Amino acid sequence: MADCLFCKIIAREIPAEIIAEGDDYLAFKDIHPQAPVHFLVIPKLHIQSLAHVADPETLLATMGAIVEVAREQGLDENGYRVVNNVGKYGGQTVNHIHFHVLSGRRLTWPPG
Ligand code: 5GP
Ligand code: ZN
Repeated sequence: MADCLFCKIIAREIPAEIIAEGDDYLAFKDIHPQAPVHFLVIPKLHIQSLAHVADPETLLATMGAIVEVAREQGLDENGYRVVNNVGKYGGQTVNHIHFHVLSGRRLTWPPG
């Protein structure tokens, strides 16, 4: 999508620290990390948010990528958190669906 920040990262029009890539997904470090480990996993297909997913199967590759990349990054032993923000109340600021993967410290709960 022309005016989408994350589509531009996928197209290499905007630089990002990419840590993994597949046919259907991209994983890259968050520019403002909220934990020692903080990366985003996105489908290459532009979908605005979880609320805009027509067919959940389109996210299967993204879900698989989260599991795989987290394992590659050595996060399985101590664990990690996967976060997806949806819309205004969810705190979504970039309108291309993305899953935050956070780790490297014990995270607090509940979120604010
Ligand atoms: P949201 O608030 O929409 O769930 O998360 C958007 C995330 O994208 C934020 O954590 C923010 O730091 C990250 N972000 C925003 N702009 C950029 C960028 O240009 N590059 C990277 N790597 N991350 C970004
Ligand atoms: Zn997009």
